[in-house]
Amino acid sequence: MMARPAPLSVLLSALLMPVARRFRTIGLLLPALAALALLAGFAGFRVSEGMGLAALQETGRHRLDLYAASLEREIDKYAYFPATLGLERDVLDLVTGRARSAWGLNRYLERLNERAGTLSIYALTREGRVVATSNWNRPDSFMGEDLSYRPYFVDAMDGRQGRFFGVGTTRGEAGYYLSAPLAEDGTIVGVAVVKVSLEQLEQSWTTVEAPVLVTDENGVVILASVPSWKFTTLRPMDEPTRRHFDQTLQYNARPLPPLGLTPLRPIADRAELVRLARADNGAAETAVFPLSGAFLAQTAPLRGTRWTLTVLSPVAQVTGMAWTRAALAAVGSAFLGILLLMWTQRRRHLGALRRAHGELERKVEERTRTLRAAQDELVHAGKLAVIGQLSAGLAHELNQPLAALRTLSGNAVKFLQRGNLEAAQGNLDRIGQLVDGMGALTSQLKSFARKSSGAPRPVAVRRPIDNALFLLDQRLKRSGVALRLAVADDAVALCDPNRLEQVLVNLIANSLDALAGRGPGHKGGREGGTLAMTARCEGGRVLIEVADDGPGLPADVLPRLFEPFFTTKEAVREGSAKDGGGGLGLGLAISAGIVRDFGGTLAGANRPDGGAVFTIDLPAADLPAADPFSAEARDFACPTPPPLRPPSP
Ligand code: ADP
Repeated sequence: MMARPAPLSVLLSALLMPVARRFRTIGLLLPALAALALLAGFAGFRVSEGMGLAALQETGRHRLDLYAASLEREIDKYAYFPATLGLERDVLDLVTGRARSAWGLNRYLERLNERAGTLSIYALTREGRVVATSNWNRPDSFMGEDLSYRPYFVDAMDGRQGRFFGVGTTRGEAGYYLSAPLAEDGTIVGVAVVKVSLEQLEQSWTTVEAPVLVTDENGVVILASVPSWKFTTLRPMDEPTRRHFDQTLQYNARPLPPLGLTPLRPIADRAELVRLARADNGAAETAVFPLSGAFLAQTAPLRGTRWTLTVLSPVAQVTGMAWTRAALAAVGSAFLGILLLMWTQRRRHLGALRRAHGELERKVEERTRTLRAAQDELVHAGKLAVIGQLSAGLAHELNQPLAALRTLSGNAVKFLQRGNLEAAQGNLDRIGQLVDGMGALTSQLKSFARKSSGAPRPVAVRRPIDNALFLLDQRLKRSGVALRLAVADDAVALCDPNRLEQVLVNLIANSLDALAGRGPGHKGGREGGTLAMTARCEGGRVLIEVADDGPGLPADVLPRLFEPFFTTKEAVREGSAKDGGGGLGLGLAISAGIVRDFGGTLAGANRPDGGAVFTIDLPAADLPAADPFSAEARDFACPTPPPLRPPSP
């Protein structure tokens, strides 16, 4: 039955799932980033604003102190002026009525007024009537007027120094009234008044850097660095107050509009944020500071008066700076957030990569293990194949002593029957030797057949060479091949002796095959030939050569020598294994693999004087070879086999 194709929806959801997951993550991250930026921006704004306002307060306090001091100095200049008039006898005489003519005093006060630069100087009787004044000869003179309703008169009559801001009733000129009681023998007999112009006081403010204003006890702006602010009120005025002003004519019935100052929030004691909504078109153009917007209003009482000095410091700069810093903080935190995000993403990716890498390594290790096991199996299979090929020779090797045993034992019986004990003993000794020889051969075969680990160790190559020759001894002898052996004692290689032996058996068997005419260029069997084996140590390498003077390696065989299943020999037929048997084409492929595993190479070539030579190149061992008498070494030790010849009966 054909598998049904996956429904489209399943495919789509499989494709879109990772995308959706990513969007879900981003969908959560974006608001989080925005919230972080907002929070940082808000914090940045508040901190910067707080710092800016604190600095502004500090500057404002300095300005307050400076302006107050200069104003007080200006007022103090006239403070004792009215009181000094009480020292004038003419003044006292006039206010008490002892003198009738004010002409002389009027002239005196007029000159004094001119010199002092004040607005007017005048003297009042106890009843508040003007009896002498500096403006006596001007049309707006208030000579003879009753000014008893003026608060400065009341204050002076109470024995205090009067301080009063007011607008003149006759000329409507605003001014600062300073009054002092005129006393004679401890009794107040009249009042002396000096009126100072506001301009004179404002002179000290010509260089102010921020709007500054003075309000009197009624909250009316009486002095201001901005002319149009004068005669405005800080607070809206209620009806009773306005009526009171109308009665006292303090502001000469001026309209007194509000300045337009709205309190925003208090900052500290005597400091608050205010908004000035009033637009002073004319003034705004000439002023060096802004005249509307948000201001920090700081106030301080003026010593010796009931006035309040207010300095308005524009906060626009502070707010602007705070916004800039808030934006910086927001952008910075968003940037940091993105960096953090990228970092965590990177870490996550790295983690995933590391996990994938670990998994891959584990798989590679597993595969390597499987491959190694497969290779070991292959090597072992190759070895078993060799044993199969050896079996015919080995059977022959064992048959000979068995037949000899049969004959020797039969003869021994006969010798015993004849009572020839000496001959019987000789035969029994020979039997013992033959059994030993057979035991050596089978144990050698067993040792060769065992599965080896393939782990390299220092090996004196003489032993594997001897062992291999021992296994093939029978074939060698029967083939009539002459053996030339030259093995150096210092030829100690890093390898597994059992596997090296397997390689050597392969190479020797191939040479014997070639010499027996089973190799390429088969021209029928021939007897004789030479097998030369050498082993030597050369430049940190151990070179083992297996050479024969057979037909050699034809050009078409050379490049395919180590190809698995490449053989020029006839196939192995079951039950037909002659000496050497047929070819599987695996011998050289497996041998090359074994040698490669030891970090060596196996190469085949033609000798110049005919025949083939195979060279095993192995790394030499720095360490001495294993103790030849150790248990390990004994396994591979070549027991010198006794000559397997049947005894002559
Ligand atoms: P097999 O011996 O089963 O054929 P090998 O891999 O051992 O497989 O050898 C492959 C081929 O290499 C042999 O069939 C033979 O043709 C060639 N060969 C190997 N050794 C020799 C040699 N000493 N002289 C000539 N030919 C050889």
